[in-house]
Amino acid sequence: MSEKIPVAVLGATGTVGQKFVRLLAEHPWFQIVSVAASSASAGRRYEEVARWREPVALPREIAAMTVRECTPPLPGRILFSALDAEVAGPIEQAFAREGAFVVTNTRTHRMDPDIPLLIPEVNADHVGLIDCQRESRGWTGAILANPNCSTAALALALAPLHRAFGIERLFVSTMQAVSGAGYPGVASLDILGNVIPHIGGEEEKIERESRKILGTLAGGAVEPAHFALSVHTNRVAVVDGHMAVVSVGFGQRVRPEEAAAAMRDFRGSDRVSGLPSSPTRPIEVDERSDRPQPRLDVDRGSGMAVTVGRVRPCPVLDLRMVVLGHNTVRGAAGQGVQIAELLVAEGRVKRETAGERRR
Ligand code: NAP
Repeated sequence: MSEKIPVAVLGATGTVGQKFVRLLAEHPWFQIVSVAASSASAGRRYEEVARWREPVALPREIAAMTVRECTPPLPGRILFSALDAEVAGPIEQAFAREGAFVVTNTRTHRMDPDIPLLIPEVNADHVGLIDCQRESRGWTGAILANPNCSTAALALALAPLHRAFGIERLFVSTMQAVSGAGYPGVASLDILGNVIPHIGGEEEKIERESRKILGTLAGGAVEPAHFALSVHTNRVAVVDGHMAVVSVGFGQRVRPEEAAAAMRDFRGSDRVSGLPSSPTRPIEVDERSDRPQPRLDVDRGSGMAVTVGRVRPCPVLDLRMVVLGHNTVRGAAGQGVQIAELLVAEGRVKRETAGERRR
């Protein structure tokens, strides 16, 4: 692709916003043309307000950009939203109304019936919901949602099991990294040497969102998957990487080797597998007895692969296992970029020529 598609990042100064900036800076299809954040940051140079925390140098052309307010119009055909959830709703809607494709990481619209909640390898067909969305809301753009960061890894690992064997019951307990709470996030004195057994609203999000993602699109609506799900969430003193211990019950007997093979062999459609951000293997099954571990495994597949380990029989349900995913890559910015790539691959966002852009 010779001409890059102009894109913008809303909430560009935050934890997820910075990850978007890093991933988009060298993207083969997209070029950041604007960064936006709160009015406290607007009007100042990005490098002054962003407190850059990515372990690579901030690209110079982005460092020098003036941060804009999050109000339309903004240059950029696709907008990546990493906004604080308290303010995101009306801002994202205003941009979609004005014709932008908004890929959002916030919780605000995830459960709206006409907004697709996407993991491209799992439910790329749900993108079709944006046709209903645009028609019913009268928008020329659209909103597409990325799931909650724990759900993104969990639902990806569960998808091949649900397809092959039919999940009926699930028990999930998470251990979630501090970067999941944004910056500055959890106070160091609360989390160092500690575990906090509550993350506000997270258990309900995982329960609802997993069912929507693994549900079926029919007649312009998603019929949610019907398994029973019990979730516990915990914040732990890990920097990046959300881990979940999971017990799964099926309507049939499933051997651990069969489950491991289904996850290991799982791929998205050919179109999704060919996207620049798609990992070669979306799920990596590790048979070592002490894996996965956040410090050792979180960056597999450049942060886009989910690692599953300890797949074994469960004396209460049928199988148990451990799932690990990168919360700001697979669980946020990386998958957000992958969703935008899917829009381009499906021809829903066209590449403009330089001449068209000037008009
Ligand atoms: P964060 O570090 O707190 O960043 C929040 C961003 O929102 C900042 O850029 C901030 O700009 C901007 N903002 C705040 N108030 C604003 C306003 N009134 N108008 C415009 N911009 C405003 O949070 P985060 O962790 O990056 O999370 C961003 C979103 O992604 C949240 O909705 C979160 O739930 C979701 N999410 C996070 C993760 C994760 O792992 N962290 C994963 C998945 C989804 P200023 O710097 O100018 O204040």
